[in-house]
Amino acid sequence: LKLVPKKPVPRPFLKRPLTWANVLLLAGLATFWLFFRPLPTVGGGEPDSAAATALKARVYAAVSRQDEVGFRRIDPANPGGWLLSFREAPQSLETYQSQSLIRPTPARRTIVLQPVGAMSAADALLLEKLRAYTEGFFGLPARVVPQIPLPAAQGDILRGNQFHAGRILSEVLQPRVAPDAMVTFGITNADLWSEELSFVFGVGDDKSVTGVMSLARLRPSFWHAKPAPDGEARVLRRACRLLSHEVGHVLGMWHCVFYKCVMNGSNSLLEADAQPLHLCPVCHRKLAWNTGADGSRRYSQLLGFYRAHRMNPEAEWMQARLERWKKIAARVQTR
Ligand SMILES: [Zn+2]
Ligand SMILES: [Zn+2]
Repeated sequence: LKLVPKKPVPRPFLKRPLTWANVLLLAGLATFWLFFRPLPTVGGGEPDSAAATALKARVYAAVSRQDEVGFRRIDPANPGGWLLSFREAPQSLETYQSQSLIRPTPARRTIVLQPVGAMSAADALLLEKLRAYTEGFFGLPARVVPQIPLPAAQGDILRGNQFHAGRILSEVLQPRVAPDAMVTFGITNADLWSEELSFVFGVGDDKSVTGVMSLARLRPSFWHAKPAPDGEARVLRRACRLLSHEVGHVLGMWHCVFYKCVMNGSNSLLEADAQPLHLCPVCHRKLAWNTGADGSRRYSQLLGFYRAHRMNPEAEWMQARLERWKKIAARVQTR
């Protein structure tokens, strides 16, 4: 009789005892999923997915009812032109805080407005108004620096008479970033284009902390429209909206899909004109968290600007918001 040693039968995977290697592997996979899972998206003419609806509900739940007065949520059934065409990932405050962002430091906290290309005396006045608006909106110092020429019109930088927006950032603005500049933002009369779009009103790039906007399409003359008596006021409102939107992008804010807000995407001047100049409660909190801007101070400064420039609907809205905000801030302080 010969004894044959019995071969050990391997246990099925799921019944094996958990080894440290397995635990570490599972923990690693879970962490990877937590940080790198794709965010749900909304828009593009499709109904919101269950994940996107849940994310939006969490964001809305973090805004108190008192804080929400005066704001309008975006109706997913009727989201407007931009969201009908493009898909966007909702950016919550937590998502914003988890990104690598430019933030003001004692040495670098100025928003530099850089005129690019020919500017008239009237443009210089508009730039000064935009500088004051930038200070009020972002709660940071802003200055206008002397004008510099557009890049040489060679190669593919020009398409018809439009300049490539990204090349203005890389060839004109990035080499000239001042030592105290937190954001370097170009303003030009040239019309702009970008890769897949036939034109852009402006761009804001959080990686290079530069952006540029064009005044060309903000003027009725571009559209061969008759000069209106309120033409100048309309151009100022459009320029304020565009500048704060693009600099918002430079500070890492994505398009807002929660409320009617200055951070909404817009496909046309008509759509942009219908959008408010203010940040919604979610986007306001992103800015306040980033720069430490004080709400009451920010709202007071903007109210002063709107009054000085007879922007009556904005002034009225801001007056009411400031009063509500003081109550909200007082309640938070006494808690
Ligand atoms: Zn945008
Ligand atoms: Zn918003």
